Amino acid sequence: MAAKILDGNKIAKEILEDAKSQIIQLRGRGIVPKLVVIQIGSDPASTIYVEKKHKTCKEIGIESEIKRYPEKIEYDKFIEEIKKLNSDKSVHGILVQSPLPEHLSHKQVYETISVQKDVDGFHPFNHGKNLLGKEGLQPATPKGIMKLLETTKAKLEGKYAVVIGRSNIVGKPIALMLINAGCTVTVANSKTKNLSDFTKKADILICATGKAKLVKEKMVKNGAIVIDVGISRQKSGKISGDVEFEKVKKKAGWITPVPGGVGPLTIASLVQNTLKACGEQENK
Ligand code: NAD
Repeated sequence: MAAKILDGNKIAKEILEDAKSQIIQLRGRGIVPKLVVIQIGSDPASTIYVEKKHKTCKEIGIESEIKRYPEKIEYDKFIEEIKKLNSDKSVHGILVQSPLPEHLSHKQVYETISVQKDVDGFHPFNHGKNLLGKEGLQPATPKGIMKLLETTKAKLEGKYAVVIGRSNIVGKPIALMLINAGCTVTVANSKTKNLSDFTKKADILICATGKAKLVKEKMVKNGAIVIDVGISRQKSGKISGDVEFEKVKKKAGWITPVPGGVGPLTIASLVQNTLKACGEQENK
């Protein structure tokens, strides 16, 4: 039996429609939600993501600004820029597009963003809230994945979930969300031995590696929910996910396409976080 497709564009559209009416209400009260998206350097994939976020926000009435800095910007200078945005009352959300250049990647960039304006949910405090299952600004992509899982109406409690990838922005936070939802969770990484021993048993399989077509049909359990987060650009220019979509969809119960699965939900979650941040800052 062929899997049902989790249509990220359709689900995101519903979230954005709802956001639009919230924004009309806020604007009616004289409040204009504002997001600043920061890009360092000119990585082409990052440019696409930054512009997509900017365009979506503008379309639904969030004021959005892109700030671009050179790849070699000094750490201290960049931190000063973030601090200025932290104290700017007209800015409700700040997002620094990942990946960061090498010289900034191990520094305290995300820690500098105000906890209240951290709409990507990468501040250690917001990661901590996610760990504890408390309400905070949740990392956007994992939040979007949970929405996709909710759409399947599957009961998560007691399910065996395997997350492939252990990054701070996808793998670890989604694993914690699944633990908090009552799943039994295994987190795999590039050093994991016999990956398919785990994936074959997974009721829920989250693939977040960026390794094109890593997940084959024989690695997937019949009827599993397969969420493909990975994005890798082929030489042809075509985008590929981590999953062999055409084959795996014959075996899975639910599956996300790439593109059109997780990506739109990441942006919708960012919008939701920006509105949450705005509401909390304006109601102080
Ligand atoms: P990352 O490079 O930080 O982490 C990749 C993880 O995959 C690592 O933990 C690594 O150990 C693991 N891995 C790599 N090869 C593996 C293998 N053969 N077997 C098992 N594990 C393996 O990447 P990230 O930031 O977590 O992003 C992962 C992918 O998701 C990327 O393709 C990225 O572009 C994509 N992504 C998509 C969205 C979206 O909105 N759709 C958002 C964020 C990231």
